[in-house]
Amino acid sequence: MNRYSIITDKNPREIVLLRGSGCRWRRCTFCDYHTDSSPDEAANFALNRTVLEQITGEYGRLEVINSGSFVDLDGCTVDLLTQICQRRSIHTLHIECHWMHRDALAPFRERFAAVGTDVIFKIGVETFDADFRERILRKGIGRISAAEIAAAGFGEVNLLCGLAGQTAASMTADIECGLAHFSRVCVNLMVENTTPIKPDPEAVRAFLEEVVPRYKDDLRVDILVENTDFGVGE
Ligand code: SF4
Repeated sequence: MNRYSIITDKNPREIVLLRGSGCRWRRCTFCDYHTDSSPDEAANFALNRTVLEQITGEYGRLEVINSGSFVDLDGCTVDLLTQICQRRSIHTLHIECHWMHRDALAPFRERFAAVGTDVIFKIGVETFDADFRERILRKGIGRISAAEIAAAGFGEVNLLCGLAGQTAASMTADIECGLAHFSRVCVNLMVENTTPIKPDPEAVRAFLEEVVPRYKDDLRVDILVENTDFGVGE
């Protein structure tokens, strides 16, 4: 499993995949990557330390992902992450969080502000069609709007494309909504995994042929056709 990478094309940054205690939601119907977790905090920290020590700060920008939310990381890992941000002059930290932990954003932001690091929280919304998101994908966000999600303190979103029921128009609408309310949008194409949710061939075709060409050069849009396109994971 590769856990450290550098993204050079859009929004250049280092990216690390850390291990936490596991997503506390775990109910999204399309997701099986929350299995990269362990209840053993000491083992998680030992692993995470080897990853965090690779950070050089060359772009001043770091993205941390951990197959869940930052609240699932152990205290020693967060302490070391704070120290690394300070030592390596990381001015911006991008980190993920589920809606259920939104009250944890402000104290985490304050903690990193104390070492000169601005935190941008990324949330997986998958789609702004709340009915599809909650009834089919079971995201656990509720039927709230993009504006409400942004107002809660989230600055970036993950979207999921290539699902049955999605069209080029609906996927484009999701991206446009994301760009209207958030600083960046990360678009993930659904890939085959162990869940019953499968990529839909027509939606995948529409995404690749009609949606990707429109956004591939947009510096605010990351497009992941494979889960490993950021260079981490397996
Ligand atoms: S919140 Fe994220 S990690 Fe948790 S089940 Fe949903 S997609 Fe998976």
